Amino acid sequence: MKNLHNASTAELQALDAAHHMHPFTDGAVLHEKGVRVITSAKGVFLTDSDGNELLDGMAGLWCCNIGYGRKELAEVAFAQMQKLPYYNTFFQTSHPPVIALSRKLAQLAPGDLNHVFYASGGSEANDTNIRLVRHYWAVKGKPQKTIFISRHNAYHGSTVGAASLGGMAGMHAQGGLPIPDIAYIDQPNWWAEGGDLSPEEFGLMRARQLEDKIVELGEGRVAAFIAEPVQGAGGVIVPPETYWPEIQRICDRHDILLIADEVICGFGRTGNWFGSETFGIRPDIMTIAKGLSSGYQPIGGSVLSDEVASVIDEGGDFNHGYTYSGHPVAAAVALENLRIMEDEKIVETVANETGPYLAGKWAELADHPLVGEAVISGMMASVALTPDKAARAGFAAGVGTAGLRCRDRCFENNLVMRHVGDRMIIAPPLVLSKDEIDMLIDRAVKSLDETYAGLEKDGLLQPA
Ligand SMILES: *Cc1c(COP(=O)(O)O)cnc(C)c1O
Repeated sequence: MKNLHNASTAELQALDAAHHMHPFTDGAVLHEKGVRVITSAKGVFLTDSDGNELLDGMAGLWCCNIGYGRKELAEVAFAQMQKLPYYNTFFQTSHPPVIALSRKLAQLAPGDLNHVFYASGGSEANDTNIRLVRHYWAVKGKPQKTIFISRHNAYHGSTVGAASLGGMAGMHAQGGLPIPDIAYIDQPNWWAEGGDLSPEEFGLMRARQLEDKIVELGEGRVAAFIAEPVQGAGGVIVPPETYWPEIQRICDRHDILLIADEVICGFGRTGNWFGSETFGIRPDIMTIAKGLSSGYQPIGGSVLSDEVASVIDEGGDFNHGYTYSGHPVAAAVALENLRIMEDEKIVETVANETGPYLAGKWAELADHPLVGEAVISGMMASVALTPDKAARAGFAAGVGTAGLRCRDRCFENNLVMRHVGDRMIIAPPLVLSKDEIDMLIDRAVKSLDETYAGLEKDGLLQPA
């Protein structure tokens, strides 16, 4: 069977259009345009089928924290596939890689988060959380506590359960979502929704919506609050400093669980091992995936506190699990990824050197005529594009017009930067060096300049 390693771009595009359905994509538009084919990667650079070298400002999809091409992970996978390529963790069995990884995660995770239930990614892990938390309350004799409170514009994955937990309107509009007993409060997005309030006032106001919602629904009905420490797919929304302490106070005061979705923020992204540490959150459950294996293998999970795990253990059979829960090759690769992160002090470097260096350069982007706020946490950052900084206005041309143009300019300038509406976002590999940070900023500024010139030329700088 032909592996297509030497096929032309045109041939690859035609076959892709004929047979491959893409996630979150307008297929008709893509067939017309032709897909971009990535053929290899090394460090923080991708190579496409035309030979372009792109600086990957998104670490793949927020996951390739240690960068591409680390042979150690390939060698561990090769060895594990020969020794034990697969075995399940159902039916009272286990294997050394999953045991070692679980011990390591218990060491790294804050507080008494010492118990891991595995999945193949973040969506599945959040589905686990829905079933596990409702079961937890049932075991505790409170089966009416079933409602999850989440946030509009949150992203928790794309399965039926996880997409319901998320607050993405476009996702809820398709496929009959959300499932019952999910409630939503507003997001702490000061730039877009803060009005005349200061960020601090606004952060408190949005946090207190949680308390209002608990009171409205009745504490006896609410099971948990779930949130990303920093919203990722929603546009890298860094909450005001007042937000998380108030959320924590509310969760402590009311009898509900707090789930931190650390799928993006975990494993060094915000300059600590977990975003919960950066923002002073004490979760009962953390969702993990992405950076857990730096994307080299599909693996995710739910990390549970001693209390939550012991209640589940007392509850008889927990009738839930995946064929690939704790897959031995994925577990071995994740463990090696964590070893590299520790041995090479990758989190410390982000916290003390490259993170602050990037933060200084990123803040300067706010002086660009097209940029309103520029925000950053560790190595995840965003800028809001605007035709009127003072008014924090959107574009009359419609949400996403400027963002899409800027994204396309970035690609032309060999930088992968994503747009969410009119926010430009980055989450580069955590091993990005200072020289590579300079390169990223140079390419971003060039792309912003070109976007601004294009919008001006086409008369699209009108505020909405
Ligand atoms: C990506 C993501 C998920 C979903 O993870 P998958 O591995 O794509 O299923 C869940 N939560 C957050 C915060 C994410 O960014």
